[in-house]
Amino acid sequence: MGQNPNRGGSSPQPQPTTKDPRMLQVPSDIKAIRDQAVLNIAWSDGQFDLPFVFLRGKCACAQCVNEWTGEQILDPATVPDDIAIEKMELVGSYAVRVRWSDGHNSGLYTWERLRELCMSKKQEGDR
Ligand SMILES: [Zn+2]
Repeated sequence: MGQNPNRGGSSPQPQPTTKDPRMLQVPSDIKAIRDQAVLNIAWSDGQFDLPFVFLRGKCACAQCVNEWTGEQILDPATVPDDIAIEKMELVGSYAVRVRWSDGHNSGLYTWERLRELCMSKKQEGDR
């Protein structure tokens, strides 16, 4: 019958024990739920919803944030309440580019950034 190539497997692999929520994670799924105006992101430890308005206001591209000073140029209050994601495009394996309904499409959201936003949203405790 079939030979097991693992030869009994006596030595267990060391498992990573780091539980730092900020460690680099890759989402297993990202989907825009237009009905609820949220971006649903599935991480290995759970799912998070990021409202479009919130996400748009956190855009960190050169048009929204001064690259040199880190000062935010975009006033989140000017983001329309009915902002929506028109298109999402994976950039390599580290980020997603979002095209917004207001025509803005230069913002990249890296996994790290999304993770950070999810964590800050979680701490706020509201959705
Ligand atoms: Zn931007």
